[in-house]
Amino acid sequence: MRKKPVPRALSVSTALKGVILGAFLANPLSVMADQHFYTSDDFKRLDKIDSHVHANSIGSDMVDLAREANFKLISINVDYPDFPPVDRQLEITAELYQRHPEDFAFAGTFTMQDWGTQQWVERKVEQIDHATDEGAIAIKVWKNIGMSFRDESGELVMVNDEGFTPVFDYLEEQDLPLIGHQGEPRNCWLPVSEMTVLNDKQYFKEHPHYHMYLHPEMPSYEDQMNSRDRMLDMHPKLTFIGAHMASLEWSVEALARFLEDNPSAVVDMAARIGQIQYQSMQDYEEVRQFFIKYQDRILYATDLTYTDGQSGQEFLAEAMTVWQSDWDYLATDNTLTSGFVEGEFKGLHLPKTVIDKIYRSNAERVFKTTLYASKNH
Ligand SMILES: [Zn+2]
Repeated sequence: MRKKPVPRALSVSTALKGVILGAFLANPLSVMADQHFYTSDDFKRLDKIDSHVHANSIGSDMVDLAREANFKLISINVDYPDFPPVDRQLEITAELYQRHPEDFAFAGTFTMQDWGTQQWVERKVEQIDHATDEGAIAIKVWKNIGMSFRDESGELVMVNDEGFTPVFDYLEEQDLPLIGHQGEPRNCWLPVSEMTVLNDKQYFKEHPHYHMYLHPEMPSYEDQMNSRDRMLDMHPKLTFIGAHMASLEWSVEALARFLEDNPSAVVDMAARIGQIQYQSMQDYEEVRQFFIKYQDRILYATDLTYTDGQSGQEFLAEAMTVWQSDWDYLATDNTLTSGFVEGEFKGLHLPKTVIDKIYRSNAERVFKTTLYASKNH
């Protein structure tokens, strides 16, 4: 059982109590307000799930570290050349799952090896089965599809390519959720001067190779979104988690349309909170109402990555900063700043019921995890 927060009036001297009580009675909403919202200090106390992290090392135990902040973790394996090979990622995540079945879950993935061969479907089904045998609760498809993987004739392979159809049909049959990261933030297709958040400006200035505005021969932002949407049209029963706000991080209006069009889809917030902060600086109520309206369709997530060679304490310090500042933005109405946008902005002050869903129960439902199964909630 949670302790109820102590009403503020109790901290004031008894001489003033009558006056304050009178004020509360005159405005009963001010009493209700405190009961319906979390404070900044509630952060560690609440049971939470970070639905998108990457456990790429077993050096320190990431699950033990996250416990310091009362977080359970869902780690996502991904076919990304800068990460350990997919087989190694599976070993690491399977090991953490063995150690902590009630505190850790993971998504497997498949590689593009054998694409275009007779064995493609059979091999991918084998890879998926192997991951789920080890405990995977979902499968990830990454942005290499659409942005870098090319077939034998040198053509980019898009996610709605018919080669994927039997593989995604299989996930649908198995009732296995698909986590999709297609495309990039829309900023990637804009000149640096028109980009919204500071981290994108910095990243694409330093990595012109990945800056699609400079590569007009590559598929457009709309091409990436359309191919993902066509794929979902073909798999209406597939549970789909759009990683990184489904790459619609730039507009809660566009994201609302996506969620309306795809009733089996949810989105995770990983690494896109800056774009949400940017929008709430322009139109606070629109963003706040989006979170309230779609409170069943959003998963709290960060993209925090633990890598070989990093000390556990170093990781934990970074994670704590990210987790606490995200919490303050979502749960409180404090005036805040972040490294993503210039200037101050106000926290979204989402009601407790919304925070509880975004931070835990949506992930439990979508991934059918047993993460909090032993707790009586
Ligand atoms: Zn990620």
